[in-house]
Amino acid sequence: MFREKRELRIPGPTPVPPQALRALSKPLIGHRTSDFSGILERTTQRLKWILGTEGEVYILASSGTGAMEAAVANIVSPGDRVVVVVGGKFGERWSELCKSYGAVVDEIVVEPGRAVDPDDIRKALQSGGETRAVFITQNETSTGVEHDVKAVAAIVRETPALLIVDAVSSLGAIEIKMDEWGVDIVAAGSQKALMLPPGLGVIGVSSRAWQVIEKCKSPRYYFDLIACRENLKKSTTPFTPAVGMFFALDETTSMIEEEGLEAIYRRHADMRDMIRAAARAVGLELFAEDAVASRTITAIKGDGTFDVEKLRKRLASRYGIEVAGGQEELKGVIFRIGHMGYMDRLDMVSTWAAVELALLDVGYRVSLGAGVKAAMEVMARCEY
Ligand SMILES: *Cc1c(COP(=O)(O)O)cnc(C)c1O
Repeated sequence: MFREKRELRIPGPTPVPPQALRALSKPLIGHRTSDFSGILERTTQRLKWILGTEGEVYILASSGTGAMEAAVANIVSPGDRVVVVVGGKFGERWSELCKSYGAVVDEIVVEPGRAVDPDDIRKALQSGGETRAVFITQNETSTGVEHDVKAVAAIVRETPALLIVDAVSSLGAIEIKMDEWGVDIVAAGSQKALMLPPGLGVIGVSSRAWQVIEKCKSPRYYFDLIACRENLKKSTTPFTPAVGMFFALDETTSMIEEEGLEAIYRRHADMRDMIRAAARAVGLELFAEDAVASRTITAIKGDGTFDVEKLRKRLASRYGIEVAGGQEELKGVIFRIGHMGYMDRLDMVSTWAAVELALLDVGYRVSLGAGVKAAMEVMARCEY
């Protein structure tokens, strides 16, 4: 039986382009070979460009959380004070990780749907003693909010504290300029805007971070960044890398190079604007404020007249579109449409058409085409 094509509109995994899928089926090569070293050098170089750093980038065999753990294990010594911005699920993850490594965690709790006020970070750094690092999520996937990493970096860099950023759902879709802004460590993963299956962790490390890494007292083995550094000098990795995934990373980073970072950032901003206009046009409220709305994921509130979880199920079973629900206390309250990676403006039109059909199916009063029209009107004004 013919089944609807499956379209991933969740915040990872995301659609993988055909070039990368083809690369994944290539026969493997040994990782201690000059061929593999060539791929490692090339992909590392491109990731450095995407991160905007002359520092180092390491590609780990892990999911995004592995890169986050690598950051914590190499920076946080037991008893260190850290400041963590908690505006949702992924801010909480930083907090939990830091506690696991014995940090004294000062949380800046931000109301879901809002971004952190950089002034609150200034205050936290001025009080409470010496701070090892500030941890923040560039794009809080659970609420669809972007925190202003550039503004936060300007404050943190005036102090001895390091700035550590979770860019798992933003790298390759939302700009980050590590060196220019003053970001010390960035953690990311492969299955979001980098257009790959899950399995690679990416960690960018500034030169300033090494002084802390070298003195860090936390135990580490698999995620020892010093071992990564020494091996990368010889164009290799400490352990067996995910060789097949590197073939695919070679393809997707080359696609990113071809499209150009500015065009990619604009495409994601346009997709966000289209989905937000569409949701409003059918009378649904958005969870995040406009000024801080995520370019890679939009959280939309139910209005209480329909079952949000039923809507999601209907979207998947009838129309082949997978969207995400809310996590924990937001379950049943919001649904989240992922628009990151291998998708474009026109995809948002069909995505929203399916949302309208499914809304109708679950009993929400929608005039078919109202949101689609609004999205198309935004698209008509897009310059690209
Ligand atoms: C997806 C995500 C992660 C977790 O990545 P895993 O690959 O599931 O380990 C971390 N942070 C953010 C912001 C994410 O969106």
